[in-house]
Amino acid sequence: EAITVQELANRMAEKGADLVKALFKMGMPVTINATIDQDTAELLVTEFGHNIQRVSDADIDLVETEADADETLQPRAPVVTIMGHVDHGKTSLLDALRGTDVVRGEAGGITQHIGAYQVTLKDKSKITFLDTPGHEAFTEMRARGADVTDIVVLVVAADDGLMPQTIEAINHTKAAGVPMIVAINKVDKHEANPQRIRERLLEHNVQVEEMGGETQDVEVSALKKIGLDTLVEKIQLQAELLELRANPDREAEGTVIEAKLDKGRGPVATILVNRGTLRVGDVFVVGAESGKVRALVNDKGMQLKEAGPSVPVEVLGLSGVPMAGDPLQVVESEARAREVAAYRAGVIQQKRTTNTPASLESMFSALKEKQAMEYPLVVKADTQGTVEAIIGSLNKISTDDIKVRILHSGVGGITESDVNVAAASGAPIIGFNVRPNAKAREIAERNKVALKYYDVIYDLTDEIRAGMAGQLGPEA
Ligand code: GDP
Repeated sequence: EAITVQELANRMAEKGADLVKALFKMGMPVTINATIDQDTAELLVTEFGHNIQRVSDADIDLVETEADADETLQPRAPVVTIMGHVDHGKTSLLDALRGTDVVRGEAGGITQHIGAYQVTLKDKSKITFLDTPGHEAFTEMRARGADVTDIVVLVVAADDGLMPQTIEAINHTKAAGVPMIVAINKVDKHEANPQRIRERLLEHNVQVEEMGGETQDVEVSALKKIGLDTLVEKIQLQAELLELRANPDREAEGTVIEAKLDKGRGPVATILVNRGTLRVGDVFVVGAESGKVRALVNDKGMQLKEAGPSVPVEVLGLSGVPMAGDPLQVVESEARAREVAAYRAGVIQQKRTTNTPASLESMFSALKEKQAMEYPLVVKADTQGTVEAIIGSLNKISTDDIKVRILHSGVGGITESDVNVAAASGAPIIGFNVRPNAKAREIAERNKVALKYYDVIYDLTDEIRAGMAGQLGPEA
């Protein structure tokens, strides 16, 4: 029986990082998501001075991550998130893309905003769009360990250019390792200058095909419905490259996209099915809640009997309101569902009070390939010149063993968005002559994101160097 390093860490109530370090010293350079065998797990458990205990059934169900056999996998629709600066046309584009659905008109359904929608194209293929534009939802989900997005569409208004949130979206997407398609919007406007956008993107290491790179871009007008077919084609092309597949013939697993307490219908959650097929009557656990599917309602307001991989549906019949990013799993009985939900409530509580799960994944992601660790950071400072000076100095203190990786940098106070990108990768945030706002401070505290303030660059590099050395451990 195999288990991932993170799961083992959770069970032992130890930090994932400490397990990864111990494994590293045992000659096994693996990431926190790597699966280790029973023997290695027992060795680690002993190493950390714990007694070996057989886990309960509820425990096993909770961490079941077994992959489906290759022959059971079938193609599934890509899941797309639209990001970009405010007013660049994210909402307009989401609305315009709804119009590419050939089923919507026919069925006579009324558009329901359930947090995600799926379109069926002329060739019968489908695309799922997450209906909450912007990167807050994206990074919050990631910070909670839910990576549902396959492709990001970055919207940039051709009459405006690259703005702070455009750059943040680029950084979030890169940190997540999700492929990006650039939609240069508002090309119907006189002032539109798409070529300038392509050039400016180069400054942020986004090289579109026309500039000799591999990132796809497309000129669109959400308002005049120009270029939508091309955008859809490029999404399909990217999806083909990703070879997205899932097993539809198994009990369903999904992720909460959105959840609320509805006056008439009780607790309602929009679930994106990750694998398997969710059916009316299925008994399930979702986060720390349980339930039995009373009805499934799609984005056209139609009741479904079942929903397969990549299909977003509203689920009715929950015991309470789960959180966005919570996993849903179908189980065999209601008693079992309640048992697992109760167990989970405990684990979730524990997770919230220990460290962030996603954090170390990226810190150690480089281990496997380059044998060099990465030290992720978010840098905010009072002027652009200072930002550049700090990044320059930080790059100089990188060594062959560990390298500074700037996830995001910018001028101004520390914001919620900075904290979210840091939380998703477990990075500290450096504030140089700047401070966080109240909301950012609160989220940082909740997600255990370290905030460090400096006003002398030398102090900053000194402390980060020490932090990096500490990360490597004494022998490395
Ligand atoms: P969001 O904040 O990114 O969701 O942007 P919106 O979709 O709300 O669009 C902001 C404004 O830009 C609205 O007034 C839209 O009508 C306008 N807009 C969006 N797309 C286009 C476009 O392709 N061409 C033009 N001319 N205006 C657009």
